[in-house]
Amino acid sequence: ERATLAALRDVPAITLDGVMVSMLANIELPEEAEAAMQAGAEGIGLFRSEFLFMGRNDLPGEDEQYEAYASVVRTMAGRPVTIRTLDIGADKELDGEATVATNPALGLRGIRYCLAHPELFATQLRAILRASAHGPVKVLIPMVAHLREARAACTALAAARHELTVRGQACSQNIQIGAMVEVPAVAIAIEPFVEAFDFLSIGTNDLIQYTLAIDRADPDVAGLYESLHPAVLRLVANTINAGARSGKPVSVCGEMAGDTELTRLLLGLGLTQFSMHPQQLLDVKREILGAHSNALRTRVAAALNRAAEIDLSLLNQ
Ligand code: PEP
Ligand code: MG
Repeated sequence: ERATLAALRDVPAITLDGVMVSMLANIELPEEAEAAMQAGAEGIGLFRSEFLFMGRNDLPGEDEQYEAYASVVRTMAGRPVTIRTLDIGADKELDGEATVATNPALGLRGIRYCLAHPELFATQLRAILRASAHGPVKVLIPMVAHLREARAACTALAAARHELTVRGQACSQNIQIGAMVEVPAVAIAIEPFVEAFDFLSIGTNDLIQYTLAIDRADPDVAGLYESLHPAVLRLVANTINAGARSGKPVSVCGEMAGDTELTRLLLGLGLTQFSMHPQQLLDVKREILGAHSNALRTRVAAALNRAAEIDLSLLNQ
């Protein structure tokens, strides 16, 4: 089984009717880039940079971060590396943080935290920009909910680039900036966010949590954490459709993307970029290779209009 799967490593992910799909990897530590290459990932769709900051009492400085990001860029050998800026708060906390938020999931996390700590954000952006001198890098902003956060993030990135120019340090001049779509408000009122960013990545883990009001880490309500809830699927569909209309790439980097039970559903929603744990890549690719995208699109559209909860068995050809 594993041997036949391994043979798919260098096979492009194309559906039976010729739709090309990008297979990207999620990583938490630089060392994992090697596993992404082993699995034939076409790039890193999500580097959760907060793991560099966790489990220690101090903050990683610019040089340390630069080394970590650059090592991933080098390992990926020309394949794009999407580095998500610090997504601290909620389920991932910084050691030694003085205050605990009343409700961490709804508190100062992700881009909110970074904009409240401009020096920390600037340091990270400079490190990411310096790494972009070694290969294609994209910046991904977590937990965006407001357009002004989009503008502030873009301004901070431009300022960081200016600082490097003043210092005479190399970096890419046209680094792309994207947003996580994980707050329902953004998925609903998506148009200005598609405009403001170069690409979008749907974080279904948090999108489900916030749409259904289910704490993603609370075992007492885990049975209600339902990726097939029609409200969740409509938000995912709305985001993918907005990206398609404007020609901006949209990926899914939440756990849904790595679940082979959901591959056909996501193809049927029009998804062409999947980002997941490296271990899941080949299994998902096998599903894609055996799927007929157009037929799935028709069936999913019909099911979305009808459904209380979508019946996955309808999608098996
Ligand atoms: C998500 O929310 O789906 C996501 C990919 O980010 P994280 O799991 O790190 O919150
Ligand atoms: Mg998230």
